Amino acid sequence: DQPPKPTSEPPMASTDLHFVLFPLMAQGHLIPMVDMAKLLAQRGATVTIVTTPVNASRFKSVIDRAIKANLKIQVRKIQLALAEVGLPEGCENFDLLPTTAHAINMFLAIKLLAEPAEKMFRDLCPPPSCIISDGGFPWTLDLAKKYDIPRLVFYGPGCFAFLCIHIVTSTDILDEVESNSEYFVLPGLPDRIEVTKPQASTWGRGDTKETTEMFDRMQEAEKASFGIVVNSFEELEPEYVEAFSKAKGKKVWCVGPVSTCNKSVEDVADRGNTSAINGHDCTKWLDEMEPRSVVYVCLGSLNEASTEQAIELGLGLESSNTPFIWCVRRKTDDFEKWMLEEGYEERIKGRGMIVRGWAPQILILSHPAIGGFVTHCGWNSTLEGISAGIPLVTWPHFADQFLNERFVIDVLKIGVKIGSEVPILFSERDQFKSELTIKREDIKIAVESLMSEEEEGVARRKRAKEFGELAKIAMEEGGSSQVNMTLMIQAITAELTKNGEPNLKVVGIPYHIVVKY
Ligand code: UDP
Repeated sequence: DQPPKPTSEPPMASTDLHFVLFPLMAQGHLIPMVDMAKLLAQRGATVTIVTTPVNASRFKSVIDRAIKANLKIQVRKIQLALAEVGLPEGCENFDLLPTTAHAINMFLAIKLLAEPAEKMFRDLCPPPSCIISDGGFPWTLDLAKKYDIPRLVFYGPGCFAFLCIHIVTSTDILDEVESNSEYFVLPGLPDRIEVTKPQASTWGRGDTKETTEMFDRMQEAEKASFGIVVNSFEELEPEYVEAFSKAKGKKVWCVGPVSTCNKSVEDVADRGNTSAINGHDCTKWLDEMEPRSVVYVCLGSLNEASTEQAIELGLGLESSNTPFIWCVRRKTDDFEKWMLEEGYEERIKGRGMIVRGWAPQILILSHPAIGGFVTHCGWNSTLEGISAGIPLVTWPHFADQFLNERFVIDVLKIGVKIGSEVPILFSERDQFKSELTIKREDIKIAVESLMSEEEEGVARRKRAKEFGELAKIAMEEGGSSQVNMTLMIQAITAELTKNGEPNLKVVGIPYHIVVKY
């Protein structure tokens, strides 16, 4: 169902379409959507990002700089009815939830946004021509229908993970698997992929009446949508892009890796939130290190390792004899006490750097001293590591992360597993609080194997470097993602004009090359 590719490269299209973006209030969804807003605005489009005040403040500096650079991006703020759904004031992002169990309250609050969003939509100028909505906002379909404009869906993960999720949610395969620890082969995939039932089912299948209804609504809205936008690139997962599009019966446009749109030092350093360390200090520290010698350790924006697990990770890194930058997301008093009593920072001085809070991930990953990434396999982090051309130690926790691990290990063959088997939820204030799943020895072995000069390590690094180069090319003029963005704009324009004379013109594309289908 993919549109035919023009034989000659289309020109770098510019457009006067107006895209309205509805990102989910989670860093892993918000950050790539803001990047996508910039990429669309670079084509001349007007882009409105609809979000809440707390989230808007996180990317204000990025948007201010984009506006200064003459990009037509605006932010419209709407308020979540937090009190109405039992969430504390200011709790406007999944990373601010009191517990994982409150995620459903957040989805309830998001459902209630339909009305204020509609009010805001009416006044938008110029009139909106397309909605790009996170899958978590199924009601944006009603808005698209009412205004007779296309709705595109964005979820976050790449085509591999989403194809796996599609297979799991649209067949009875999981009902046939009794044990939670047994590995089974996911049917209908180009590669042999084995997972356990819990690993395959932490996304897309509800476990309560409310969550099941929510996923059903998301699927219904997706079915009636115009297409799916994916933060990936075709050369990374060609068979999966095709199979995913076929399985969904939808147009799928891979337009990433979107993170590479951040070019200035400020945009790279401030992406997603204000950094807890000065980008310049970080670069200076890395400048002192040998090329490709340092591992970067970050487990995403939601995971909160228990104090015990954080200590174990610290000891594992120390014993690995590898220089590291370790991002500790939310420190606890007990952890700080341990660090102090042990003199940990003194012990690792010169070869270990700790970032307490938000790390400038793209800035770090793009430094030539970084040679590996210990990641929780959130899709953005996975793709950012791939774009940096480095191998990964995979430490999945929940959601699509185990599937992304399979992709890195079995399909791309650029990773080393740390040995995480059982999904755990993201908040340490939950019942899983003191679970210690990964031991210091596991960390030491995985990191040393990743950085090793032995044949396997060298081959892994070589493959990773090649994917990094392909990622860059995909986003350059004439690259697959750049062309896909053009094709997407053309398809939307064609859709808007299918019933008569064009009411919105695509500037810069000779009309005869607008693909009609
Ligand atoms: N990120 C960052 N600094 C941090 C933690 C995360 O810049 O300290 C960014 C990271 O670059 C990525 C996003 O936050 O773009 C996290 O998304 P991902 O899908 O990797 O994982 P999630 O946080 O959704 O689990």
